[in-house]
Amino acid sequence: MEQSQELELSIVVPVYNEQDCVEKLYGEIVDATAGIDGCEVIFIDDGSTDNSLSILKELQGRDSRVRVIRFRGNFGQTAALSAGFDHARGKIIIPMDADLQNDPADIPRLLEKIDEGYDIVSGWRKKRHDTFLTRRLPSMIANKVISKITGVRLHDFGCTLKAYRSESVKAIKLYGEMHRFIPVLANWSGEKVAEMEVNHRARTTGKTKYGLNRTFKVVLDLITIKFLMSFSTKPIYVFGGLGALSGLGAFFTGFVVLYQKFISAGHLAMNRNPLLTLTAVLITTAIQFLLMGLLAEILVRTYHESQDRKIYMIEKIYESKEL
Ligand code: UDP
Ligand code: MG
Repeated sequence: MEQSQELELSIVVPVYNEQDCVEKLYGEIVDATAGIDGCEVIFIDDGSTDNSLSILKELQGRDSRVRVIRFRGNFGQTAALSAGFDHARGKIIIPMDADLQNDPADIPRLLEKIDEGYDIVSGWRKKRHDTFLTRRLPSMIANKVISKITGVRLHDFGCTLKAYRSESVKAIKLYGEMHRFIPVLANWSGEKVAEMEVNHRARTTGKTKYGLNRTFKVVLDLITIKFLMSFSTKPIYVFGGLGALSGLGAFFTGFVVLYQKFISAGHLAMNRNPLLTLTAVLITTAIQFLLMGLLAEILVRTYHESQDRKIYMIEKIYESKEL
């Protein structure tokens, strides 16, 4: 992964079974970047089972600006992007989908926007060509919620087409479906984020790898992000707080139980009293929360102090030596 020579631009394209569009995409990228010196295109073959790899290898043989990273299996779009970012040598990194839904013609405008002094320019597919019920509607709601919770106001977190300053994106570790949260993570560490309308086209070949269930994953990722950003260095505050709440509840219900036994209804059978059970449960929960908080504290220390770990495994990298 030597960063021998710095280039102007790296374009990063995750590819998973996209044999019918990669070559056309490559052509469009070549046209769009004609005026840019020092440009590379990194295709990450995310364990495709169709002809994608052989087409990519053929492109790489023809054009030394093309690099191909082949994964050992299907690690997902986020892992593929992450590998691309790790290996990119450009000062600016632009990821995009392989399926021609993003338009390489937007690249020069993204670069201009970065030149205005932004660290990240996020694409906004204002006229999005995907199905309404399973894709556009959930995404609309998700974007609103994410904006609200994270305080980073963007219309379209899910758009792959974005432009990053290399340092901004290389510093961020990605897990799950986290690539859409890069602007959030970057913004939190003080980077300047802008938004720009980009072209979006309907998918004409291959098929989408996602459905409605991705929304669910995104929600869970959002909770993780919020937790990490707010409490990752002090989890005991969250768990300790919840534990204190349970403890307080136990105190009140326990008090009522004692009152019932000794003062008001002395005849109440204690073994049938739901409040007694509730008190026991709440005390247990309080202790559990506290212990979980302590465990989280230990984990957080390991997390922050342990060495780099990758979320993917590379089988082989196809690239020319001379670039
Ligand atoms: N992709 C990938 N690995 C996966 C799923 C998708 O590399 O496991 C790539 C896919 O080839 C495409 C991009 O991620 O280039 C976006 O995928 P898709 O077009 O299916 O998503 P959508 O545009 O429908 O959100
Ligand atoms: Mg797509």
